[in-house]
Amino acid sequence: MKIVLQNLTKRYPNRNRKIKQDVIAVNDFTFEIPDGKLIGLLGPSGCGKSTTLNMICGLEKPSSGKIFFGEDDVTELPPENRGVGMVFQSYALYPHLTVRQNILFPLENLKGDARPSREEMQKKAEEAARLVQIDMLLDRKPSELSGGQQQRVAIARALVKMPRVLLLDEPLSNLDARLRLQTREEIRRIQRETGITTVFVTHDQEEAMSISDLIVVMETGVVQQIGKPQEVYENPRNLFVAKFLGTPPINVFEGRIRGGKLYMGEDLIYENVKEISEGKNGGASSATDQTVTVGIRPEGFIPDENGPLCCRLNAVEVMGRDTSVVFTHPASPAKENRAIVSSDDIRELQGSTVNFSLKPHKVYLFRENGERILYTAEAPAGKGKGREAVLSGTEKQ
Ligand code: ADP
Repeated sequence: MKIVLQNLTKRYPNRNRKIKQDVIAVNDFTFEIPDGKLIGLLGPSGCGKSTTLNMICGLEKPSSGKIFFGEDDVTELPPENRGVGMVFQSYALYPHLTVRQNILFPLENLKGDARPSREEMQKKAEEAARLVQIDMLLDRKPSELSGGQQQRVAIARALVKMPRVLLLDEPLSNLDARLRLQTREEIRRIQRETGITTVFVTHDQEEAMSISDLIVVMETGVVQQIGKPQEVYENPRNLFVAKFLGTPPINVFEGRIRGGKLYMGEDLIYENVKEISEGKNGGASSATDQTVTVGIRPEGFIPDENGPLCCRLNAVEVMGRDTSVVFTHPASPAKENRAIVSSDDIRELQGSTVNFSLKPHKVYLFRENGERILYTAEAPAGKGKGREAVLSGTEKQ
């Protein structure tokens, strides 16, 4: 079942009564969620994720805009008639009921023809329990289960009515790190097996990136970018998205373009910088003088004594399969920056400074308003180990 969100907006009166202006929790959200996909709704706390989810399930009414399940306009439909299954951060199980009774609960609440026979109900509950692999725990009480098992019961309870849409609001937040990993894989498996269109809300970008077919990145009620996780990571539309995705996070520097040259502090990074404009009049023209933010992914640095970026070396850390070079640079406001490099490249690292060459497709430029600048450029003559001369911030090379 596809879900269509059409210009969805939700305003609340401000909680601070002295402020007359409404809070716009979700602002003009339009998106068609394809049938059978898992969508990760991602953003910092307060960006409107839960409000969006609550509008899809019917707990909140949009101030304007429409919601369709398939071709059905469900905007005015009460939650119980929408055919949605919902799982919350708190498992919200009934403590005095057994696992079986908890899972049966939504079926027992059905009225009239919709209510299956006793045997059918039992069968459905057992099927749902099997799907989430808790069928051996059906006679226990919630207090006799681990957090992960309780969350599985909550998922089984959401699935027992075979909903058209499954909505998960931060379902893993109460679990410890290992269980979180395991349960997120489980959710992915269950979603694939059932093919139910699923919306998964989280503030944890790694979680969303790892299980979603598509991610929606939100900030203060406004959708910033929608796409496949890897595509959004590689092609962030703005500085917010670039900073929000990735661990370790993208390294951010102050840069300036002067006479077609990009400088970070004293370091000349690129020459012949050209801005690419999109659309009908697309083309590349010499970049105007301006202050820019330079974002460089941790995997975009190559230690290279002839490299153009000269940094102060703080530490080399080996953690599992990653080797991090921790450094500072005068153009970066951060206390420390992090490059993830190949262990072969660190042998030569000595002393208190390190120079880097940069991988072109890992270097992003942003305007002062955060908007991404698409560009081409050339490495400065005599710098770097003769890497590609013509660069593009737009494509993988
Ligand atoms: P998230 O789930 O991303 O943390 P929410 O959807 O819960 O964000 O909230 C989005 C914004 O709407 C926040 O600024 C929040 O304070 C505000 N908000 C949410 N619910 C209400 C409400 N009932 N009354 C007033 N403001 C609300």
